[in-house]
Amino acid sequence: MHPGIKADIITEPNLTERNKTLIVIRDELFYGSADYTKSQPDLFIPHRFKILAPSQVDSFLEKVKESLIGEEEMLLYVHLPFCFSECLFCNSFPHKADREAQNDYLNNLLKEIELFSSHGVFKGKKARYIYLGGGTPTSFSNHDLKLILDKLSSCIDLSENCSVTSEAHPSTLPDKKRIRELGDIGITRLSIGCQTFDQKVLLLCNRKNTRGQVERIVRDAQDAGISINIDMMTGLPGQTIEGVKKDIEILGEVRPDSVEYIRHEIVNPLVVKLYKDNPALVVSNDTLFEMVCITQEWMSSNGYEQNGRFTDDKQWGYRYHWLREMPIIAFGSRARSYTKTICFDKHEELSAYSDIIRNNGLPIGRYISLTEREQMYRSLLLNIQVKRGLDIKQFHDRFSADPLDIFSSLFSKLSEYGCLKQEGGAINLTKYGAYFVEDVCDYIIDTVLKEESNCLVRAPHSEGGTSSRL
Ligand code: SF4
Repeated sequence: MHPGIKADIITEPNLTERNKTLIVIRDELFYGSADYTKSQPDLFIPHRFKILAPSQVDSFLEKVKESLIGEEEMLLYVHLPFCFSECLFCNSFPHKADREAQNDYLNNLLKEIELFSSHGVFKGKKARYIYLGGGTPTSFSNHDLKLILDKLSSCIDLSENCSVTSEAHPSTLPDKKRIRELGDIGITRLSIGCQTFDQKVLLLCNRKNTRGQVERIVRDAQDAGISINIDMMTGLPGQTIEGVKKDIEILGEVRPDSVEYIRHEIVNPLVVKLYKDNPALVVSNDTLFEMVCITQEWMSSNGYEQNGRFTDDKQWGYRYHWLREMPIIAFGSRARSYTKTICFDKHEELSAYSDIIRNNGLPIGRYISLTEREQMYRSLLLNIQVKRGLDIKQFHDRFSADPLDIFSSLFSKLSEYGCLKQEGGAINLTKYGAYFVEDVCDYIIDTVLKEESNCLVRAPHSEGGTSSRL
């Protein structure tokens, strides 16, 4: 047995094959604690972004509209980048919650939605799913969130089964009343950050949320008919295997409707400082590997789906349809939109974002037009995160090319690692490939970058994020 793999992750009998596969993944593919992995991987090629001058925005939008021809439904993302907390694991670098700044932002956001609508971006389309992310969206009042949802529904038709998720910090859901009212304004799913129930680890992360608080929120949300997700993490400062096992035991009792387990992305300067001062708090590669195995095994045996194994849109429709390449139109500063062929970002600086909107302009700051080869890679990267995988025939019909030829060396490497297989006309992840989906995706992104130049390196998910803490 590889010295890094401890016996207690091996819980089933007759595991020779399993051990072998895990050892290969551990040795050849696993990116480890010192690297970041993307929690919701998409094809991110930051060196290809081009700055868009304000005078080019209108003609650029015509290209975006062209790229949406044939699309009936879209996903809408609303970025609400304010928060009162300073968690050390945060990779979204929100602005300090502040009533005046948030009111100003809200007004600009509502106008931005209207401007997109008046440019005809939503014409003939329906919104399949709305996602309010942040930051902490629930640092805005229910009234504010209702204004956003009302504005969206006045500008774009909603699909019959359009769902609305809002991210939330547990402390912003203090009672049944707030949760019920969120349901009343149209929120159908809440996603709360928990990360761990281990109070010692939470304290190190400058974060407080108790088991009792989370249990109450899950109960109140379910009573109000709102689906509830809990975000969890592995690889947090000082986190232990015992702590992770305790976490999943508690999750098993709390039984939220969905769980997302991601790895701690070490990008926040506050956590970097903590680690520099206390190196012993860094979770070792071997321990992190074991944590991923334990949590993924628990997720799949308890019917929880996430990247790598979504079978349908029940647990997290927004992400499921994103992975099926439904276009995303995103509002708010720094928000990223995708069509199948174009990716574009809004201005990140609040002042630039606001000034442009005040002058009736669209706050698009940079973009990438994907080459055909990049479109192929993106299609592969997203579709293999869904259980049924990349459909070979559909790929062929779209690109007039066989993915088995296009990606032959990539496929042979990932198959050698025991992560990828060809089955029923599709290319999909194996069981253990799905456990280590972030590593598979990072490997694909690294391959894309290397094709262009050996000097290019992957950038963190949070690249470009202004850090008021730096
Ligand atoms: S992780 Fe969430 S709650 Fe913590 S600072 Fe970031 S946005 Fe706020």
